[in-house]
Amino acid sequence: MIAFRNTIIAVVVISLFTFIALFGRLPALRKTPIGFSHRLLCIYVPNGFRRVDARYTGGRMSRSIARLTHYLFQEKNPLVLLLFLTLLTGSATLFLKAALPHLETKFILPIPIVLLAPYTFTYLCVTSTVDHITPANHAAAMRTYPYDHILFRPENVCRTCNLVKPARSKHCSLCGVCVARCDHHCAWVNNCVGRHNYRWFLQVLLSIGIVEIYGAYLCWHILSPHLHLGNSKYGWLEKQYWAELGNAFVFAMSIGGIGISGVGLLAVTTLPLPFALFGYHVYLIWAGMTTNESAKWADWRDDMTDGVAWIGKKTSGIKNDELASESEEEEEYIPWPRISDQVLVSTTDGKAPTGQEHLWEKATSLDMVENIYDLGFWRNFIAVLQGK
Ligand SMILES: [Zn+2]
Ligand SMILES: [Zn+2]
Repeated sequence: MIAFRNTIIAVVVISLFTFIALFGRLPALRKTPIGFSHRLLCIYVPNGFRRVDARYTGGRMSRSIARLTHYLFQEKNPLVLLLFLTLLTGSATLFLKAALPHLETKFILPIPIVLLAPYTFTYLCVTSTVDHITPANHAAAMRTYPYDHILFRPENVCRTCNLVKPARSKHCSLCGVCVARCDHHCAWVNNCVGRHNYRWFLQVLLSIGIVEIYGAYLCWHILSPHLHLGNSKYGWLEKQYWAELGNAFVFAMSIGGIGISGVGLLAVTTLPLPFALFGYHVYLIWAGMTTNESAKWADWRDDMTDGVAWIGKKTSGIKNDELASESEEEEEYIPWPRISDQVLVSTTDGKAPTGQEHLWEKATSLDMVENIYDLGFWRNFIAVLQGK
């Protein structure tokens, strides 16, 4: 029973840490306990450790850990992918070995499809390199999206690739290339999630969620007959009722052992991860932006809060350095359903650009700014499915 309790604690702790590691950096969660826990784990605790280490070992341990974390987080490596595949394969093997003898055929039949899906979509995501921008496909990448002159401007050149950055692209230092419609570099699939493999990435999340739901359901199906509820002489407001319920639950779980109960519990506690991430990406599709762009919008929102962002119209005759450098080279026309005349600048002194004050208006909210990449939820969603 103690081993079982320790397994439960370990599963809960691992799930919590994974959740914080995955979501703590999201701009939307910056001011929540999740964001604080992320800063605590990634900034405050390491800083404290570095100070102690510098004092007692001259910083030797910090240097080894820095080398390791650099390899883990700053270099392309398959460790997270391997960990995920090991966890999935290990859990599935343990579960199937213990559960198959207890399951009717109708419950066994969907298992191959449900279980193969995450492997298939992960494979598609991992091996996809179509989004990597090379000199050969650069011209086509430049014709995909127009510049919005807010998040993406045509004068930005990637110094590593030595190519003009197409709108919505981003250079990934881990992959070493610029990535078309870059969403984010995903350690989970050891690749960048971009224009074409974004749909596979969403399917990875969804298929993992489905595996977990189905696994948890089968676990419940096998164990629920052992869960003797409803014959308690106590009312549900009494403490004894909940104690009995807890005991009945623990008894049923102990029958399942690690193979059924342990794996089922792991499935239930980690279920929020793929679904929360999937929900976040549905929100991004609704808002017409990538994870990379959501961070850029968050920066603009911060500038607006600080009162240093100014909005104007290109056709109103405004002149500023950014527009001047853009006009030096004629921008190629890209057919796109939405165009915008807006230009957004942030000034260091918080004042409107000198000499043209009357042409600029203080930008106080993102609602004032048009996102030309947002074509409405349905069209955004279809574009994602088509890899466009
Ligand atoms: Zn690049
Ligand atoms: Zn990458």
